[in-house]
Amino acid sequence: MLEHTIRNQMWIGNEWVDAADGGTFATTNPATGEKIADIASAQTADVDRAVASSREAARSSGWRDMNPHKRSKLLWKLADAIEANADELAALETADNGKPFFESRKVDLPSVVENFRYFAGLADKVQGGTIPVAGPFFNYTLREPIGVVGCITPWNFPLSLAAWKIAPALACGNAVVLKPAEQTPLTALRLAELAGEVGFPPGVLNVIPGFGETAGAALVLHPDVDAIAFTGSTEVGKIVMRAAAETLKKVSLELGGKSPNIVLADADVKDAVRGATTGIFYGKGEVCAAGSRVLVERAIYDDFVTAFAERAEKMTVGDPMNPDTRLGAIVSEEQLERVMGYIEAGKQEGARLVAGGERTTVNGKGNFVTATVFADVDPQMRIAQEEIFGPVAAVIPVEDMADAIEKANQSSYGLAAGVWTRDVGKAHRVAKELQAGTVWINTYNQYDSASPFGGYKQSGFGRDLGYEAALEKYTQVKSVWVAMDR
Ligand code: ADP
Repeated sequence: MLEHTIRNQMWIGNEWVDAADGGTFATTNPATGEKIADIASAQTADVDRAVASSREAARSSGWRDMNPHKRSKLLWKLADAIEANADELAALETADNGKPFFESRKVDLPSVVENFRYFAGLADKVQGGTIPVAGPFFNYTLREPIGVVGCITPWNFPLSLAAWKIAPALACGNAVVLKPAEQTPLTALRLAELAGEVGFPPGVLNVIPGFGETAGAALVLHPDVDAIAFTGSTEVGKIVMRAAAETLKKVSLELGGKSPNIVLADADVKDAVRGATTGIFYGKGEVCAAGSRVLVERAIYDDFVTAFAERAEKMTVGDPMNPDTRLGAIVSEEQLERVMGYIEAGKQEGARLVAGGERTTVNGKGNFVTATVFADVDPQMRIAQEEIFGPVAAVIPVEDMADAIEKANQSSYGLAAGVWTRDVGKAHRVAKELQAGTVWINTYNQYDSASPFGGYKQSGFGRDLGYEAALEKYTQVKSVWVAMDR
């Protein structure tokens, strides 16, 4: 592995500290099964400590009244520091998550750097307006930070998703307590250290590794946390929302998906097959927006299935640190069992397995699953309805565009969707009809810091990315009235 620094304590007030009770948990490398480190495990007392530290930072004039240009510069400096340490951060991410180094180094890290730069640009543009109200009054708005934001992130894009929340929250002048996923705490801890090194005041960014039911739940319940920005499963999202109701926190939830990727008969089939492949196998399919339902118009169905299965067979698993590897290790033993359970369910329900479907290893070790394609899937089957979060595609035949739209929307989720067609009219029509927060036309898995991302239906609410979404999520508006006739 490339050289890297492993931090295994909690980062509170710009210092490394152990959990109050000295407890730890192990984080392992899913490609080898080896333990990487024992990490401090935050409990309620530690959450209290982190929140108190962030509250102090949020109130302090040093952060709250910081010259906005300086705040912008700090975020930019953090982007520079991440860029300078990109090899190390990518190696840590790959070791902890099992994703190919190609993805962490060439995709995740550059996007994290871009994200901090994009929101650095927002830091000195958070402003209110003047409003022409009736009467002899001058009315204006102040756009203020919310205060202390608790961010809870999952294990599939540990650094990217932390950045999606931290960068806009800090740009808007909040203080952040981040609880990374217990499977993948390493990059968030290193990121926090870099933030301290470039000059963020103590408490502005605290990172408390730990489990969801303990550290995560305590953060959501904490009366001194003003907002929760959560990315994770729909199941836990519901728990978070219920718990946050106790103190009426502002909540945003980016949850699961079962995203449809529609291939119409007039599509460029070669492009569509490529798009369907990256749509489901990028990130081992452990991607909330993964194109896990591939809906293909009957006229090209057989040709598509043959070509898709061939391409999937070429997606061989490998050592994630090998720069040529494109399919890495499933994040944990538990997740591997879950994916294999769904593959079994697909077989039992009568779907036709045309590629993959096997558990495998690399050098005799690790949690690997071959790229799997099921054809002739009925929309009511479990593999077509439930989020698998693994490299498993369900191909569903459809009769025409209208049938594709109807079947695509037959889901409790609504995170993302794709459509492949050469007909510009159909493309826009489908984009309009799909119940999804993002629609990709003749492409898949595109993201940009400037473009909002989030869910319809049970994929959640609130948007990450984009400056409007950031202002909506991480600021509150105060209306000020001034009498003019006195
Ligand atoms: P995934 O299926 O991607 O692991 P989860 O929803 O289980 O998604 O986890 C996402 C994040 O939510 C993780 O950081 C996890 O520790 C946290 N989490 C899990 N349970 C809770 C809970 N009850 N309260 C708050 N956070 C939780």
